[in-house]
Amino acid sequence: MSTSEKNEAVEPNVTNGSPKPTSPNSDLKHDFASFWEYSSAPESSDKVEIKPSYGHFIDGEFVEPVKGRTFSSINPATEEVLTEISEATSEDVDKAVKAARTAYNKRWSTLPAKERGKYIFRIARMIQERSRDLAITESMDGGKPIRESRDVDVPLAAAYFFYYAGWADKLDFAFPGRKAKSIGVCGQIIPWNFPLLMLAWKIAPALATGNTVVLKPAETTSITALKFAEICRDSGLPDGVVNIVTGAGQTGTAIVNHNDIDKIAFTGSTKVGKIIQKSVAGTDKKFTLELGGKGANIVFEDASINQAVEGIINAIFFNQGHVCCAGSRLLVQEGIADELTRKLKERMETLIVGDPLDKNTDIGAINSKAQYERISDYIEIGKAEGADMYQPSNGIPDGGYFCRPTLFTGVSQSNRIVQEEIFGPVLTIQTFRTPSEAIEKANNTPYGLSSGIWTDRGSKIFNIGSHMDSGVVWANTFNKFDPTSPFGGYKESGVGREGGLHGLYPYVNLV
Ligand code: NDP
Repeated sequence: MSTSEKNEAVEPNVTNGSPKPTSPNSDLKHDFASFWEYSSAPESSDKVEIKPSYGHFIDGEFVEPVKGRTFSSINPATEEVLTEISEATSEDVDKAVKAARTAYNKRWSTLPAKERGKYIFRIARMIQERSRDLAITESMDGGKPIRESRDVDVPLAAAYFFYYAGWADKLDFAFPGRKAKSIGVCGQIIPWNFPLLMLAWKIAPALATGNTVVLKPAETTSITALKFAEICRDSGLPDGVVNIVTGAGQTGTAIVNHNDIDKIAFTGSTKVGKIIQKSVAGTDKKFTLELGGKGANIVFEDASINQAVEGIINAIFFNQGHVCCAGSRLLVQEGIADELTRKLKERMETLIVGDPLDKNTDIGAINSKAQYERISDYIEIGKAEGADMYQPSNGIPDGGYFCRPTLFTGVSQSNRIVQEEIFGPVLTIQTFRTPSEAIEKANNTPYGLSSGIWTDRGSKIFNIGSHMDSGVVWANTFNKFDPTSPFGGYKESGVGREGGLHGLYPYVNLV
């Protein structure tokens, strides 16, 4: 539809009481905000069962917490309480570790590898069977758009289980000439941005290699991990092979410090990663750390601009920007900077911020009040640093924790919004003239997790890519994940790799 087809301003898709659009921003060629109308298409949550409360999943059954303490899990789009979650103390963690140790010694490490694989395949299929329930629950508990939980989180979680199920009886081929031995009991701690998917990244390779686990989901997003516990129970997985304890940072500390845990796998912030690294120093615990990032997305003058705009939108606004490998720093070659910035702003005008369960929604709710405040603080910091802020004119819902997609231009390399991980829908734009300037700016942060390169020259992709200090380099795309592909960081973005053949290494001793 062109602007000439527009007769009068129509109220856009109104979800959760979105206000009417204000006047479109004056530097845009198109007026998207006032005439794209979508009927709402909410996914029904009627058939989704979220219990009023959940205990810990230990030794194959749900049990009450030793001290009986609980906390509420909130729907960030409505601020309603979804359920009460148990808080694990060190006593609960100890029970879970004991169950995992017994299962390791008696039931799992001694099972023929082929049989282990069958259980993991069964879990993968059950994730597929329950995918609708899991996707809706993930969106209600975490705020992410249903399109993403339905099309990305849940299918990928199943794919990781399928992939590692396949490795279970082929470890001799993974490590030719060597014997892969399981480690024992693994303590696994995950964040709130991809709850079920991060669980899959952790549990699937651990089980495939013959280990047992005690996993703690993040405080704000425990429900799909508890539904996964139901899958473990219903799949007939031997008791104690997977144990899920819920709680906050103290529960994580109890796992990290437990003497009978052989390996820690942590995904979360660099700050907590450093604490964990200190805690395990001097012990014989193995560890892997998947930490934060501040990914550079580099667009050269020879790139397809329209394609790059789509990639930039996906790189920073996917999952509300709660993505460790988000392309949160855009570096644009000077000759196309004005055109690209204008097109990007126009595309941002079309983004629908709203009800996570609505299939039209592009950007859902910020995961928690605390994260919403953190992002808001960074937006204020950006303004105080003198950067120019742009937000589209579309309305956002009144209640819940919603944040407009935000763009900052006029930033410099030393600005905090350029250096620090915001973990929200906030993008900064810088320009560069030469490839070496792009490389220098891209690598100039403490992080080294991801980067993107947009160009029509294959040789440029390989040249620039080989200079990136980042574990992942995407070319003419962004935020693509696959179970066969290793993922992890350099510098303060972490230690070790998850995914692919590389993801087996942290869970085995090679003899
Ligand atoms: P946190 O580091 O705050 O928390 C991660 C997990 O660790 C949570 O389960 C948390 O519990 C727990 N935890 C908190 N304190 C401790 C502690 N002292 N000892 C042990 N465990 C602890 O990160 P967020 O949950 O806020 O997640 C966002 C961060 O995770 C971002 O920095 C992001 O970049 C990073 N991340 C990295 C990924 C990667 O693969 N590299 C992927 C996804 C996220 P609780 O939340 O319940 O308090």
